Amino acid sequence: QMINELPSYYFYTAQIFPKHRKKFSHKGTYGHSLILGGSKGMMGAAILSAKACLRSGVGKLTCYVPDIAYTIMQVSVPEAMTLTTSDDLDFISTHFTEKDFEHYQAIAIGPGISTHPDVYKMLESVIIAATNKPMVIDADALNLLGTEEGRSLLKQLPPNTILTPHPKEFQKLLGLTWKDDFDKLSLLQQFAKKHQIFVVLKGYQTAVATPEGDVYFNSTGNAGMATAGSGDVLTGIIVALLAQGYSAKEAAILGVFKHGEAGDLAANSRGQMAMIASDIIDDLRW
Ligand code: AMP
Ligand code: MG
Repeated sequence: QMINELPSYYFYTAQIFPKHRKKFSHKGTYGHSLILGGSKGMMGAAILSAKACLRSGVGKLTCYVPDIAYTIMQVSVPEAMTLTTSDDLDFISTHFTEKDFEHYQAIAIGPGISTHPDVYKMLESVIIAATNKPMVIDADALNLLGTEEGRSLLKQLPPNTILTPHPKEFQKLLGLTWKDDFDKLSLLQQFAKKHQIFVVLKGYQTAVATPEGDVYFNSTGNAGMATAGSGDVLTGIIVALLAQGYSAKEAAILGVFKHGEAGDLAANSRGQMAMIASDIIDDLRW
């Protein structure tokens, strides 16, 4: 490989700091996030994202959930507003237009949405309607983008989109696997550059790739976070930062850092084995 094609790698230590809260501010100052998530049997994912979002400084949060989960969301997260259609389905099948998103500063889609073909159509409508809105795409939304049909949608992702795959989801997005860690990182860098988006490749020392092809490694977090729902927490944190006006680069790097830091606090108090994803939310400190 040509030396000038090599990416720049940064070992990230807290260089992006949370902005302090302004004395004369109100909830309108800190943005309104929209989280689209959940389906029958996977509402927990959307709930974890919602709680993490609210614990990360957002002014207001609306959750769009399937009709069957309206009560579940309202009862579990009283601070969040809840929207739904009344189609009695186990998943979200609404087709969204730009107007549906006008009141939100940032959108997250994916936690627990399922991979039903109707959900794919919903995701497609969101990507087309979300022009100029910063957006986090995670979990089953990534699995849907990682199908043959889905990969054609990658071209339409708006700038300032952040994808948050774990390695399996990233392999699906690529449609191939890597030989070794060096290969994995070059594929990550190329993918972010090609689609002009941010890609957060999660795991030990999560790597955040920018549209310029730079890669930032995270220095926080621990193996106690290898537990169901950890990733959904990260999605909520990042969409909260985006709504507050952090750039996509700041939101991805700072969000990953604080997520890992909260995971380290949880591990210090309970031990890695006892940790569950909700503990990461409880230990968020800003
Ligand atoms: P997900 O697989 O979507 O639930 O995401 C898992 C989350 O936990 C990601 O943010 C990972 O970075 C984090 N995580 C999982 N395993 C580890 C590990 N061994 N060390 C540090 N962080 C981890
Ligand atoms: Mg996940």
